[in-house]
Amino acid sequence: MHEIWRFSRLKERIDALGEFGRDPFGGMTRPFGSAAEREARRWFLQEASKTGLEISTDMAGNIWALYPGDRPEILAIGSHLDTVPHGGAYDGSLGVILGLESVQTLQEQEYRPLHTLGVLVLAGEEPNPFRLSTLGSRLLTGVLSFEEIEAVKDDQGLLLTEALALADAPSGNHHELDVARLRGFIEPHIEQGARLKEQGLPLAVVTTITGIVRHSITIIGEQNHAGTTAPEQRRDAVQAFAGTMELFQRMGQEFSGEVRGTVGYVSVFPNAVNIVPSRVEFIVEWRSPQDSLLHSVAEMFWTQVQTRVHEMGLELTRKVILSQNPVVMDPRMQELLHQAVGTYIPQHPGLVSWAGHDAAHLAQKVPTGMLFIRSNGKSHCPDEDCDSDDMALALRVLITALRRWDQKENPGASLRK
Ligand SMILES: [Zn+2]
Repeated sequence: MHEIWRFSRLKERIDALGEFGRDPFGGMTRPFGSAAEREARRWFLQEASKTGLEISTDMAGNIWALYPGDRPEILAIGSHLDTVPHGGAYDGSLGVILGLESVQTLQEQEYRPLHTLGVLVLAGEEPNPFRLSTLGSRLLTGVLSFEEIEAVKDDQGLLLTEALALADAPSGNHHELDVARLRGFIEPHIEQGARLKEQGLPLAVVTTITGIVRHSITIIGEQNHAGTTAPEQRRDAVQAFAGTMELFQRMGQEFSGEVRGTVGYVSVFPNAVNIVPSRVEFIVEWRSPQDSLLHSVAEMFWTQVQTRVHEMGLELTRKVILSQNPVVMDPRMQELLHQAVGTYIPQHPGLVSWAGHDAAHLAQKVPTGMLFIRSNGKSHCPDEDCDSDDMALALRVLITALRRWDQKENPGASLRK
């Protein structure tokens, strides 16, 4: 009876959160700094305080809801409350609610923790008007410094520091943000892909979070009249770009399964029907869980592109706009999650995350693991969905993992860097 009530509360909370920032098309738009995102934060604070969790907001805008144990070291479960534009109800939200339900359930069962158990809501994971995604996790771990964000503004001229103040983040001494108490972090998240759905399995333990490399390449030709310029005189940037896409497709096929490539941004200048185009800028993105392969494919493509474009008599430039290495999840956190899932079901595969997450940054400083929950294969869209039974199973698993971690004498201690 008690269990049924607990699982229905989980779903009710997901539905309640899905109302903040709801748009007319059935999705939700809740970027960091928006009024809807602040409402969602306030709602979370209310829910967390219902059972008396100790609540605070840090300088990076992250919310901590703690169930204090005898010792100050924290094991936290969490994710993010912000969404992409016109996004779904589960990306981020599910991880936050599962964290809250896990800790509150242990509290309601009058479990006395040895260590402190926490829910961690990381601020601004998705892209936002300040153009800084994974904001809270990067500030918390020092990957991004407070000096670097001092002058950052959105297009309306609002300073990021003002948006943080609106989110109740205290300002002041920069050294107050101390990640040292955090000795373990678990991010539960919908899988976002369809691998678990296809395998008929509800849960997986993440092995590695993909690395991502983005190169902005500009091909420079010569602008001229579309009719009067003879074929041998043309230096057409779009024709050269088309040649590079042939190379891109071939490389994608050669390394499929290990590397994923996308050209999702292309800009043509002057982009007029009767002008030979002088310039094409495109961004090629490569993802892979294999460090050296990721960088060598990105470089190989760039070398081939240079040869091809030069052969056609055009020039080109490249700017590296992102170079993020793959991040392996902590082996002991993976083991903890495998054991916890194994308590309930026999199959619990390890899976690569092809999407980026806050967990990739937390892992730089804290033993970090991720639990994937089967989704319907759709994400960053209103159709995002997750089965209630799968969510209930994930909750049981997380409670088991929290108890096991808490009962270890010195969890996470040898991982301090
Ligand atoms: Zn997410």
